Amino acid sequence: MLKYNPKLPREKVYGVYELDVLGFFSKLGLLEKLKMGQIVCEKCKITITENNFGAVYKKNNELVFLCDKAQCKNIIEGIE
Ligand SMILES: [Zn+2]
Repeated sequence: MLKYNPKLPREKVYGVYELDVLGFFSKLGLLEKLKMGQIVCEKCKITITENNFGAVYKKNNELVFLCDKAQCKNIIEGIE
């Protein structure tokens, strides 16, 4: 899996605090993957659902997802 780079440029970080999680994943074309439990948190590897989705950022043209646990989301909050 992708490794987090603390020097990731800010503009590559998606603002993820979308209220409509399902709509957000639908826009990305990843709704089926989400529902099938195929999206995992990059940091703690937990399966991401609409209820624990925390953040997403883009790295090397691939989306990296994080759950809503503070220690995982903090990766992104640390950048901003
Ligand atoms: Zn996590």
